[in-house]
Amino acid sequence: MLDYEYARQKMVDTHIARRGVRDERVLDAMREVPREVFVEEGFEEFAYEDSPLPISEGQTISQPLVVAHMIEAAEIEPADRVLEVGTGSGYAAAVMSRVAAEVFSIERHATLSEMARRRVEALGYRNVTMKIGDGSEGWPEQAPFDAILVAAGGPTLPPALKEQLEIGGRLVMPVGREPRNQRLVRVTRVAANRFEDEDLGGVMFVPLIGAQGWQPDLTVPPRPVHPISLPEQIAAAAEDLPRIDDPAFAETFDRFGDRRVVLLGEASHGTSEFYRARAAITRRLVEKHGFEIVAVEADWPDAAIVNRIARGLSPAPDGHPPFQRFPTWMWRNTDVAAFLEWLRAHNEGVGDIPSQVGFYGLDLYNMRGSIAAVLAYLDGADPQAAAIARQRYGCLTPWQNEPSTYGRAVLTSGYRKCEEGVVSQCRELLERSLGQSLHDDGLLDAAQNARLVASAEKYYRIMYYGGAESWNLRDRHMFETLDHLLASAGPSSRAVVWAHNSHVGDARETDMGRLRSELNIGQLCRERFGEAAALIGFGTHSGSVAAASDWDGDMEVKQVRPSLPESHERLCHDSGKSCCLLDFARADDLRQALAEPRLERFIGVIYRSETERLTHYAAAVLPRQFDAFVWFDRTTAVTPLTAFEPDRDAVPLTFPFGY
Ligand code: SAH
Repeated sequence: MLDYEYARQKMVDTHIARRGVRDERVLDAMREVPREVFVEEGFEEFAYEDSPLPISEGQTISQPLVVAHMIEAAEIEPADRVLEVGTGSGYAAAVMSRVAAEVFSIERHATLSEMARRRVEALGYRNVTMKIGDGSEGWPEQAPFDAILVAAGGPTLPPALKEQLEIGGRLVMPVGREPRNQRLVRVTRVAANRFEDEDLGGVMFVPLIGAQGWQPDLTVPPRPVHPISLPEQIAAAAEDLPRIDDPAFAETFDRFGDRRVVLLGEASHGTSEFYRARAAITRRLVEKHGFEIVAVEADWPDAAIVNRIARGLSPAPDGHPPFQRFPTWMWRNTDVAAFLEWLRAHNEGVGDIPSQVGFYGLDLYNMRGSIAAVLAYLDGADPQAAAIARQRYGCLTPWQNEPSTYGRAVLTSGYRKCEEGVVSQCRELLERSLGQSLHDDGLLDAAQNARLVASAEKYYRIMYYGGAESWNLRDRHMFETLDHLLASAGPSSRAVVWAHNSHVGDARETDMGRLRSELNIGQLCRERFGEAAALIGFGTHSGSVAAASDWDGDMEVKQVRPSLPESHERLCHDSGKSCCLLDFARADDLRQALAEPRLERFIGVIYRSETERLTHYAAAVLPRQFDAFVWFDRTTAVTPLTAFEPDRDAVPLTFPFGY
């Protein structure tokens, strides 16, 4: 007679331990449970061959290596309660009973379940409970479970099983669109409504048959073989948003009220809906959730003037009106003015300065001011270089994808010759304005000043030549300034950030990071603050936008072309939603459905619709780039304020630009 004990030890050593299963507790359990008891009569001699074997009802007892892999992947701890779907012979349940506190196992075939129960009982394993039923719906009465193992392949992950996982719990299951060919997937419930999926490789299991699996007659195509279209999935996951001025609009964002940083993006710098939505959400975050920093993609000195006025202080001593340089409409528009008017009134109501809400510019210190100085200098020194610089600065703004301009800058010797002059212009400008900033409200302290001066030389040189390095320098600077603001306002301080989608959405999930090694504020915030950062993107299908054709060009109201067929925007458009929120943390299926990179549109201060595909689209994985996405199907251009409004009292809406 075969020495089963010997054969078992040998199988565990040669087929399991040597093939990658490391968990000693799993290996010990495999060494303990007699598999020969679980196979059909007459198959005992094959019990340790490491292959699946037939059992009654046309089912199989899984291959030992696969059982071991799955149990190891489920990371079962001694105190864990485990659910198994697909008892079959009962072998896997018996092995798990050796590493877990309690095992619950469901089988749809009564005869199999009954035999398995008797085997496990005969072995004296008392911590296994079995029942007959449809395990694709889990075992709600016994939930939650620390681990769930499914021994049969389903077309998708059954929502019921994910629901029945403990926070931190693991679900290991074969999933595939063909009944007998699957990928083994591990899903970890990292938070109440957040799951992480991992692919553990290809496997072949018998089908999971049930309400959340396949139909009993496999020739009847199950629902997922004809998956609902992506636009339908978007429509199903979307939360409709009312008009922006309806209080319910901003209330929808209360779910982000406990974050340290909420970053609000935009898909262009000239769309009214994006500004108004960000203003409404920001007001809510300030009034209801106590946020006290509003940090925007703008020059520090200009924002500092606004900050003083918003706090009821007089503008800076030499007080020229802020935001008078290209692109003026980005800040001097009616939507921003209305927001700042509210901010001033809010701060007035709050009274003392420390509890007031501040308004700050995150950008490279006086970036637009420096660019204006560079252009003025080049216009005099070398008009040809000035023309190139005007084009090149288009590349610094979000997000112009025009490699040819970089090439031209490098090839033109005049451009290189101007470098010294440009850098010294910028240095002077920096020194002058830093001198003035000492009169500011003290937030830009000595340390930040020193940091700026130290990096200025490098900054201006890099900015002059452009490329990924200048992008990274700029976004790193924006992040550091944000960090600095949060630190100066204390450990419980919270910030809302307004910046373009290209700065706010995690760069690692877009072509920026993947192809060009560019990083951004969203990525750095995620790295620093983890789940305490919310990255919220905005998008649109068509309408109008305020933008220029070149850096320094006039503002034009341009038509936004309908989004391209292969873009995220087109999927959202086809969902039929006019305005909605996609909260990816609450939409697992949609997250999975959108896991492939797709085109996304980026319009900055410059919009060249003629070359749109090349200059304004890049690929991204939307549900990983952002935590949530706000959709406006049709949008309209911002309304710029007239350059100067002499009678400031009569037109309060022009605050703070009209003094
Ligand atoms: N773990 C088992 C392997 C069983 S094979 C062992 O070690 O032997 C998969 C089992 O899942 C089959 O017995 C099949 O009948 C069962 N099954 C398929 N769909 C099911 C469902 N919806 N609920 C419960 N069991 C199911």
